[in-house]
Amino acid sequence: MTESIELTVQSMQAYGPAHDHWGIAWSGGKDSSATLTLIMWLIDSGKIAAPKTLTVFYADTRQELPPLAIAAEQIMDELRERGIAVEVVRAPLDKWFMVYILGRGVPPPNNNTLRWCTRQIKIDPMEQALRDRLDQLDGQILMITGVRQGESAIRDRRIEMSCSKDGAECGQGWYQQVLPNAKGLRGRIATLAPLLHWRVCHVWEWLKHWAPRAEFGDWSTAMIADAYGGDEAEEINARTGCIGCPLAQEEKALETVLALPTWSYLAPLRGLKPLWRELREPQHRLKKAGAERLKGGPIAKNPQRMGPLTFDARLMALDRVLGIQAQCNASARYLGRPAISLINAEEEARIRELIALETWPQGWDGDEPTGDTVMEVVYQNGAVQPLLFGEERA
Ligand code: SF4
Repeated sequence: MTESIELTVQSMQAYGPAHDHWGIAWSGGKDSSATLTLIMWLIDSGKIAAPKTLTVFYADTRQELPPLAIAAEQIMDELRERGIAVEVVRAPLDKWFMVYILGRGVPPPNNNTLRWCTRQIKIDPMEQALRDRLDQLDGQILMITGVRQGESAIRDRRIEMSCSKDGAECGQGWYQQVLPNAKGLRGRIATLAPLLHWRVCHVWEWLKHWAPRAEFGDWSTAMIADAYGGDEAEEINARTGCIGCPLAQEEKALETVLALPTWSYLAPLRGLKPLWRELREPQHRLKKAGAERLKGGPIAKNPQRMGPLTFDARLMALDRVLGIQAQCNASARYLGRPAISLINAEEEARIRELIALETWPQGWDGDEPTGDTVMEVVYQNGAVQPLLFGEERA
């Protein structure tokens, strides 16, 4: 632990002084929370010199696990009490996860063709927040991220973007790799991952036993450590991301939280992941009837591709999510525990408005057949395989 902190101090001493302005990309997960609170302590204790300005950018997706979202609120209060500038970074309402799926009708993300979520709810808003901040500053900003890959990564000199991997924190690798090359930011952003070499047990140790102590800053990080499995954090090695993330194989972080008696009332949240999977089924979606021509050019690669969610599917899913939220909150009231917000009144109103306005994603009109309609098969070369059976031919 002491060695890991010492290496972090050395990397901050090597790169920090070259930049007057620092930013910390924080998403409330274990790695970025450890990074944030450690940097604060290193500055407070004089182990590293403070920059001229320091801004903490909290990436709020509204999809975080409740104990993490609550801890983030507390840490934000603690930062503001110390006079640290904290910016809450969010996408515009129509691009929030729930509104985009249930209002606009874009299917839940997946690992293959449709991974829209990380860029939309985490990266684009962070880019915009940085552009706005840089408008007020001279020179570069050093963006500090919580990318952490352990000792083998240091040896291999690689930073992985994959955040569907166990142990990773969704978004942090993207902040590290994508931000410095983003439009309007090139040349004005440098990134640094000062906990790159930390092992998960160090992160847990810091969050659970060090950071909460007065001498290390009295931070509200213990709840974050517990959410990752406390003493067993290293074996569990849960990744950090949205509740019900459709890209993750297992919900290790959620299951770890639900195993704690104080959070077991959130068990209905288990219903989100299967709902996102169900929504990708053909009966809930439209599909293109034939081959599409790309702006008068070649035929699109995937004729008869599946597309957006039908209005019935969106309303069914909205009802299910609201039901999950109501169940959790009824138990919360009964037990005197914190309530959760999956879809707030503003989001619900906007979702219903978008459905009432018959909103479809770009390239879709709503008169396409549903995905389960039996049809002739159209191939990319334009060939058609007629139906062998079925009423359509009669
Ligand atoms: S945690 Fe999952 S759903 Fe959330 S942004 Fe990352 S990949 Fe997308």
